[in-house]
Amino acid sequence: MAGQIPESFQKKLAERLTFYEDLGIRLFYRNRRTGENLPTESARQSATTLPSSPAIPREEPTLPKIYRKPEFPKAAAAAPPKISPLPLPTSAGPSLFDATEKIVDDTLLRIREDLGECTRCELHKQRHSIVFGDGNPKAELVFVGEGPGADEDAQGLPFVGRAGKLLTQMIEAMGLQRKDVYICNVVKCRPPENRTPEEDEISTCSPFLLRQLEVISPKVIVCLGAVAAKTLLQTNRGISHFRGQWLDYRNSKLMATYHPAYLLRNPNAKGEVWKDLQKVMALLGLQARKGKSS
Ligand code: URA
Repeated sequence: MAGQIPESFQKKLAERLTFYEDLGIRLFYRNRRTGENLPTESARQSATTLPSSPAIPREEPTLPKIYRKPEFPKAAAAAPPKISPLPLPTSAGPSLFDATEKIVDDTLLRIREDLGECTRCELHKQRHSIVFGDGNPKAELVFVGEGPGADEDAQGLPFVGRAGKLLTQMIEAMGLQRKDVYICNVVKCRPPENRTPEEDEISTCSPFLLRQLEVISPKVIVCLGAVAAKTLLQTNRGISHFRGQWLDYRNSKLMATYHPAYLLRNPNAKGEVWKDLQKVMALLGLQARKGKSS
């Protein structure tokens, strides 16, 4: 492959990758496979023993902190400067993906195999199960949470605890069932005491999430909470700046909304989330379940 790329372009590419690395963006896959070395799908399937999970077989180093300086209008010196609203974040994903070789014929099974019995970050030390993801591998709608909690760690499935029950209710209110959608998390192992995953944990694990999204290629991604939204959008802006607004993530539309665990603590925010989900429903042509007022 490298031989087919003109040397001048290879140099530019190397410089660009170094530039990204200097920025702290190292969203590049490990263990990239090349066509020649791949075992056949059937050989791979028979060779794989996945951890027992009812799910279909079941992610990159430090994420960039994008601080955009507020732009001040070139106003008269005496006038107090007005801060322009910052542009909505858009995913930096495409440039990163496009700068790197794609994994040809990637599958959820292969991603799960590559994840293996992961020990890439500290989180593996206390986990019981890797929570890869669950649901329809061809889903039009994917929900992305933060990371497994105690119940998820025990069962190896995402969103099965209290917050998960609320998420299930939300999905059903949208006229869907859990099996219709795909549910996964930014980090696949439970952070101790359910703390927020650290940046290095996110950057180590998120490549697997990005690959999952690439394979599923859903019409809509709903980010449940700030961690998911910030990870996919590669921004440090607070979720309140873009919650409820349509954003782009590669070929998918992205809607960030509050995490169900936040709703358990702040039930008054449920109405906002329902409004966000109604936008998703409109885009996907879904009808609310009977009895759920719009
Ligand atoms: N919270 C999450 O973000 N993910 C889960 O799977 C469960 C709770």
